[in-house]
Amino acid sequence: MIFETIHGLSKKLAAKELSAFEATKAYLNRIETVDKKVRAFITVSHEDALKAAVEADKRLSDGDRVTPLTGVPVAVKDIFCTSGIRTTCASKILENFVPPFDATVVKRLKDAGAVILGKNNMDEFAMGSSTENSAFFPTSNPWSLDRVPGGSSGGSAAAVAAGECAASVGTDTGGSIRQPAGCCGVVGLKPTYGRVSRFGMIAFASSLDQAGPITRDVTDSAIILNAISGRDDLDSTSLKEDKPDFTAGLASGVRGLRIGIPKEYFIEGMDPEVEAAVRAAIDELKKQGAQIVDITLPHTEYAVSVYYLVATAEASSNLARFDGVKYGLRTESEGNLLDMYKRTRDAGFGPEVKRRIMLGTYSLSSGYYDAYYKKASQVRTLITNDFDAAFKSCDVIATPTAPTAAFKRGEKVKDPLTMYLSDIFTISCNLAGIPGLSIPCGLTKDGLPIGLQLLGRRLDEATLLKAAFAYEQATGWHKKRPQI
Ligand code: GLN
Repeated sequence: MIFETIHGLSKKLAAKELSAFEATKAYLNRIETVDKKVRAFITVSHEDALKAAVEADKRLSDGDRVTPLTGVPVAVKDIFCTSGIRTTCASKILENFVPPFDATVVKRLKDAGAVILGKNNMDEFAMGSSTENSAFFPTSNPWSLDRVPGGSSGGSAAAVAAGECAASVGTDTGGSIRQPAGCCGVVGLKPTYGRVSRFGMIAFASSLDQAGPITRDVTDSAIILNAISGRDDLDSTSLKEDKPDFTAGLASGVRGLRIGIPKEYFIEGMDPEVEAAVRAAIDELKKQGAQIVDITLPHTEYAVSVYYLVATAEASSNLARFDGVKYGLRTESEGNLLDMYKRTRDAGFGPEVKRRIMLGTYSLSSGYYDAYYKKASQVRTLITNDFDAAFKSCDVIATPTAPTAAFKRGEKVKDPLTMYLSDIFTISCNLAGIPGLSIPCGLTKDGLPIGLQLLGRRLDEATLLKAAFAYEQATGWHKKRPQI
């Protein structure tokens, strides 16, 4: 049961083959047995989960507001505020923070009747690509425990892959949903910027952050997106546009769909096994009637630099609020207020977060702003224009999710620059605000998952999901399970 999809569980719940209480118990037991090894959860909310399960069972038996998520046990990244449940963002500075309200994503999951099992580990403040930047402990990749699960939503992806929840919701600022999904052999979707409310989601880089589903298959991705997306008056950047039913057109096939292959995404230095798997996936879509077109995204080479200026600038501003006054850690000090701020931030933030605050403060400071932040914002527009031009000749863009499969723990921690390059293929999508999805497309000879990334037009998640569904149904990589 623990490896069942949301839609599979939902059928069993409706047919009374299983109760929400039993399903929740089964996942709590699974967490108990495997999370000692995987360490995908920072907090497991046993009692709240069981209480929610009882309520869900009542809704199911009364036929009251039943949705495909009613009674389904899920988890969320520890970046989403949960009323009464500790929300740490994997940082010491928020180690004991218990929010008095739910993030909109959490509220919508609860309204749909989902059971929240707990909070997944992540890189501190979502800064990282390996979950090794968590202030508490690293998470292991369920496919190979000495490897990273990717990041920053590594706990979410590992939990789904290890059968510790039916699905999770992560966040993606530069690849943090897609890259860990790729590393763990699950489906990760970053929606269009503004599709999902950011209210109650702890901010990293506000013009890039977006929440999205991490699931076992494409149908589940559409189910979660249906539940969490849509206008929210509590987030002024959330979009007013109507949303479709994302599950509706899944099976309509790829005949005639134009798939663009950007030459800038097949580069030297990428693992030949990754390239071979991605090219085979493209061939499969071609076999099903998609038309393959060569495209170019000429400003791709600037994406990582632009991202590390824009994201750090926004982070330096967003993280100014953690000063020991309003919430979280406060370090006692003999000196004045400024001294208290300094000691609190010194003790509360880890090295990667400090590095980013310093980089961002530098690029925003007078004398450097025009040369760095302003220039980066201008190049960001060129990157967005590249996509607009490319989508004149194609409907979807196919690339690898990352240049390699999951790397070994400790391999890149000492070298932040190589770590930053793990996101070379995922970052442009956030800069342009378009949707992107990662779907499993093979295993390396060492048995590690490989991700295929699909990018789409703004607001066109439906086409991404349709193409991914066609691929998934024909190949079945999503049904492979790690042995733990
Ligand atoms: N790995 C990238 C970073 O470290 C992206 C993180 C994210 O998407 N939150 O910033």
